[in-house]
Order: sequence, then structure tokens, then C-alpha cells
Amino acid sequence: MGLKYLQDVVTLKLNVDKCIGCGLCVQVCPHNVFAIKEGKANILDKNSCMECGACSKNCPVSAIDVKSGVG
Ligand code: SF4
Ligand code: SF4
Repeated sequence: MGLKYLQDVVTLKLNVDKCIGCGLCVQVCPHNVFAIKEGKANILDKNSCMECGACSKNCPVSAIDVKSGVG
């Protein structure tokens, strides 16, 4: 139960409507959280996100929202 709670705390959010499928988030994420499918980014494994903020910083259309630097 405790573990599930911690997993749900991850703040990563992807706005698929904004995404242009450039693939930068896939390249910069150190934990392989993203993959490109049919021209759009998909979150493969949200729970492995460590909230480093790299994807959000590098996304050219600000499609990714993550609270980095907390905790
Ligand atoms: S915040 Fe870091 S670990 Fe999380 S999805 Fe973005 S690049 Fe990957
Ligand atoms: S960096 Fe942004 S626009 Fe590029 S694939 Fe990832 S979410 Fe989409």
C-alpha cells in the first residue's frame, strides 16, 4: 500500500495534443519513461520517472509538465 502511494505521487504529465513527436523527451530521459508511438510521445513507465525535469526543459512545445527539484 505504501509503495503504491509513493508511485502515485509522481508529478509527470504529458499533453499529447501539444506533442509534435520530435522525440527529444525519449532521448533525454535517463529512465526510458517515454516512447514515440504513431508520431506522439507516450508515457511507458511513469513510475520510473525520477522527476529530473530534463524532458520538460527540452520539449519544444511545453507538452510535458513535471515538478522537478522537489524532495
Ligand atoms: S522528469 Fe526526468 S526521469 Fe522523469 S520522464 Fe522526464 S526526463 Fe524522464
Ligand atoms: S519532447 Fe515534447 S514534442 Fe517532443 S516528443 Fe517529447 S513530448 Fe512530444
